[in-house]
Amino acid sequence: MSVRPNKQMLKRAVIVMVLVVLCLTLVSTTSLVKIMIVNGEEYQAKASEQQLYDSLISAPRGDIYDSNMNLLATSSPAWTVYLTPNGINKLDDKSEAEEIRKTIAEGLSSILGMEYDEIYELSQKESYYVIVKKKIEQETVDTIRQWILDNEKLEIASYIGLDETTKRYYPNDSLASTVLGFVGDDNQGLAGLESYYDNELTGVAGRVVAAKNAKGTDMRFSYEKVEEAKQGNSLVLTLDSYVQYVCEKYLDIAVEQEQIQERGAVIAMNVNTGAILGMAVSGDFNPNEPFALSAEDQATVDAITNEEEKSAKRSELLNRQWRNKAVSDTYEPGSVFKIFTAAVALEENLVTANSTFTCNHSYIVAGRTYHCHDKKGGHGTQTLQQSISNSCNPAFIQIGQLIGVDTFSKYFSAFNLTGKTGIDLPGEASPYYHEERGPTELASSSFGQTFNITPIQMISLAATAVNGGYSVTPHLVDKIIDSDNNVIESFLNENRKQVISETTSATMRTMLEYVVENGAKNGIVSGYRVGGKTGTSQKMSKILSTGNSHLYIGSYVGIAPIDDPEIAVFVMLDEPAGANYYGGLISAPVGSKIMTDILPYMGYEPQYTDEELEKISVSVPDVTGEEISAAKTRINSLKLSYKVIGSGETVVKQLPEAGSSVYNGGMVILYTEETESQTATVPNLIGLTASEVNSAAATAGINVEFSGSISSNTVLSYDQDIKAGETVSLGQIVTVYFRDEASADMAETDVSE
Ligand SMILES: [Zn+2]
Repeated sequence: MSVRPNKQMLKRAVIVMVLVVLCLTLVSTTSLVKIMIVNGEEYQAKASEQQLYDSLISAPRGDIYDSNMNLLATSSPAWTVYLTPNGINKLDDKSEAEEIRKTIAEGLSSILGMEYDEIYELSQKESYYVIVKKKIEQETVDTIRQWILDNEKLEIASYIGLDETTKRYYPNDSLASTVLGFVGDDNQGLAGLESYYDNELTGVAGRVVAAKNAKGTDMRFSYEKVEEAKQGNSLVLTLDSYVQYVCEKYLDIAVEQEQIQERGAVIAMNVNTGAILGMAVSGDFNPNEPFALSAEDQATVDAITNEEEKSAKRSELLNRQWRNKAVSDTYEPGSVFKIFTAAVALEENLVTANSTFTCNHSYIVAGRTYHCHDKKGGHGTQTLQQSISNSCNPAFIQIGQLIGVDTFSKYFSAFNLTGKTGIDLPGEASPYYHEERGPTELASSSFGQTFNITPIQMISLAATAVNGGYSVTPHLVDKIIDSDNNVIESFLNENRKQVISETTSATMRTMLEYVVENGAKNGIVSGYRVGGKTGTSQKMSKILSTGNSHLYIGSYVGIAPIDDPEIAVFVMLDEPAGANYYGGLISAPVGSKIMTDILPYMGYEPQYTDEELEKISVSVPDVTGEEISAAKTRINSLKLSYKVIGSGETVVKQLPEAGSSVYNGGMVILYTEETESQTATVPNLIGLTASEVNSAAATAGINVEFSGSISSNTVLSYDQDIKAGETVSLGQIVTVYFRDEASADMAETDVSE
């Protein structure tokens, strides 16, 4: 006898399933995702015997932590809403079935924000398991449960189910998004670390077979757990959230100020281990909503009317926002690469720091004339140290010739510039270069052109040059831990090999410090010893294809403390469209600002010279609630001035707020009565020296905070964060940006036949 399932039986089936889920939830924290529910035919065939429910228990995905065990990615409970339309289809009363479909479509469409028709169609399918929506959060689930209770008379609970799963959650929104990546609908890693370490994070799904007696009227059932799910392992990164935040902050400011057209990238790395402390890419995304475009990109898409073009543009822009420029894109490194040429020549004892090279503005190789950026007849005779500080191409062509093609190629390979670095991220790009270098390729390669490498290769090369000569493997995961915090695997710095000697590396450190002190002055960090090199490369292939000759990449690598290096910061800004494009003018300031914030954080105490002490900022003390005389004394002791407003005895309000950082000599406004804040008009603070900015600020009644290198009294300000003419509170802090305009790195190829 064939038994057709009736409403009663179906209801029981659902109850049993819910009970099984409940039991399992109690037994472990794992969750259920049904992969197979008996379909109609099987149901009918087996209905008189036993019903089997075969379910996968999805393992909770591992978390991702930063180096201080701050959560960067975790999972929170979520639910899948599904229907069992066959239950409705098999109702004898067709008008009742129709009423149920309508009620479900109406209720769920309004709760889940979906189309009525879409849900109505799902409710007609020939199936016992149709997903309505995934990743529903607790609040919505509660609403659904209440709605089910409200429709008790239709027994809607028999046709709707909720499976508990998880939803990936990134507590810091876009912080480090291009590094972290994101997951898909089924929590599978689709980009970044989520993708690279997907197997580790996913864990192993378990499996459950639950059985129930379909004939019984006494609700007897049993279940058997076949395999338990194994929770995914967690990643502990080398990345430090604070360093990451600082890298992103100053990159974003620079992208805005310099009108960067093709995004920018910043990498902060430990030069001894290759551990990545920060990796920022501008124009990134929120991994909680990876498919959402920025407002600007969305507007671009919306403006397209053709559906096909619209969709193509949309995926192009999505891929762009997900792309990790620091790892997946290559570029011509330009003059930053002179670090390599100098290190190789020193290592091979072809030169010393004091060897001299003559630049007469132009230099001919195999009939091709290379010009120096110095238009005033060239740099003349200069030492190796001066040549790198001058970023003189003719000098580096001569050094390249001393090295020769074979040795150049040997070190190109030894520095790992012929392959990938092996960083633990998906999509690392391969470099490209001439396998066979002729005299002109050697000449151009010596100053960083005619070949492409990735930013991550460039910073790794710089690390090797200063860390005693050892290669590094850049990496983001320090260790992998299980759910009990046992270390399963940790990064071992065992692939280190010595590429250049300690002696050569020591000479490189001295030379790169000289470069920052004499050439790349915008890389200076008050209170610290810093080495570095700037670069400005023309985007030759794009120039040839577009005809636009003004396409540059301005870059910089800075290293500190240069006498015993720990950290390197690499900055690249691709296609600046503002007034400046030299790496020394646009990228070195970013490196300096990042180091200014992170070196004290990393435990390095600044050692200021007397001259620097005059220029450092002071933290404003909290004097609210204090007697006015005591407040005055404290403020004066910090070399700040004050202005009292009101005739009260105690300070009721102060501006700037306690903890704000203001330039030495700044003014604190002390209110002794509850009155409206007085206002000031922001003056023009651009194109002035530091002392001129100070006096303009004091006259206007505002405070200033300086950003960037003020290496000499001739350095001028180039931007202010609150525009001139705006009305602000008296005592408001305005950030003023400085850079040394004389220290441009003008090492574009400038090749002519
Ligand atoms: Zn020169």
